[in-house]
Amino acid sequence: MIYADYNATAPLRPEARDAMLAAMDVQANPSSVHGAGRAARKVLERARGQIGNAIGAAAKDIVFTSGGTEANALALHGAVRALDGKATLYVSAIEHEAVTQNSGLVGAPVRSVPVTPVGTLDLDALKSLLDVHSEADGTPILALMQANNETGVIQPVGEASALVRNAGGLVHCDAVQSLGKIQVNALLLGADYIALSAHKCGGPQGVGALWVRAGAPLKPVQLGGGQERSLRSGTENLAGIAGFGAAAESSAAGLSDFAKLASRRDAMEDKLISEGGVTVFGRGAERLPNTSNFALQGFKSETQVMAMDLAGICVSAGAACSSGKVSRSLVLGAMGVDDALASAAIRTSYGWKSSEKDFAATADAWLNAQARANLSGSS
Ligand code: PLP
Repeated sequence: MIYADYNATAPLRPEARDAMLAAMDVQANPSSVHGAGRAARKVLERARGQIGNAIGAAAKDIVFTSGGTEANALALHGAVRALDGKATLYVSAIEHEAVTQNSGLVGAPVRSVPVTPVGTLDLDALKSLLDVHSEADGTPILALMQANNETGVIQPVGEASALVRNAGGLVHCDAVQSLGKIQVNALLLGADYIALSAHKCGGPQGVGALWVRAGAPLKPVQLGGGQERSLRSGTENLAGIAGFGAAAESSAAGLSDFAKLASRRDAMEDKLISEGGVTVFGRGAERLPNTSNFALQGFKSETQVMAMDLAGICVSAGAACSSGKVSRSLVLGAMGVDDALASAAIRTSYGWKSSEKDFAATADAWLNAQARANLSGSS
């Protein structure tokens, strides 16, 4: 089997597995003051340090959550709560549902910021929106991901943050897809909040973190035992967090190897374009090295995913949701791709275990499926 769905979940790294197994033997609550509790606390704080290091930030500013979704929810709800609702959210048109849907719930006005046809945030449009932002609109909060989950397109977060900062605003960056794939640096991003998730970089599912800039406004949305500096109550998932720390550390150390995936991905795309006539989305932009999202008019995403599965290759439909159903891709729609082509999009994404052969095998299997479907790429 060839696994080409790293953006959905990356395989568990051996370092993460080892750290989790060791943490499972530490049977105490990290909030307990006795010796066993202190041993558990040590595991927790080690992981906090590893994650802080991976993003160039202080460990103390990391708040553990149950995943990327909760980290996004905490940032958006928590910031608006801290501002007593006096805020306006500026949300990029290509954000993950964890951002768009929580933005819609926080009780502050939401304005969408468009992207260019290659899928990068339209900085001029952001500037125009900020130019007409008035005091009555409260604090502007931008939500902009570092890299898009469907296309891999990397966003100009630093530039956008500078514009927002100039307007007296705050920035939330969803770095769930970029951690362990490209450099994530809290300072360079210029953000106030950064959402992270373990399972996209080779850690376990169901654990994540929110980095909060020291002094940035944030109120908890979940109350209880006061864990995580009272910003996220609930006993921490110790084994999961230990795995997250190890995965963050080893993926950060492996960034230069990860970068090598780009040339293999590009060679695969060249073949699919020249022999299959596919359209590759976001190819004109800077992308994550591991991601390729492409379509052939008339070749339905679901049909392709099934054909690839039969060939032993795991890929996703361009806009697969958690139920596995394929819905219209809002990301491709925001890039101006028409529905007919968007409904033919599939995403392949690779990672730390992928070999050069995997890319060639993906291209061959796809071209075979195309031949069987009798579809030419000239349409
Ligand atoms: N943000 C982005 C960009 C994602 O791709 C995902 C997962 O697909 C999430 C957030 C949600 O993360 P989690 O699955 O850890 O809740």
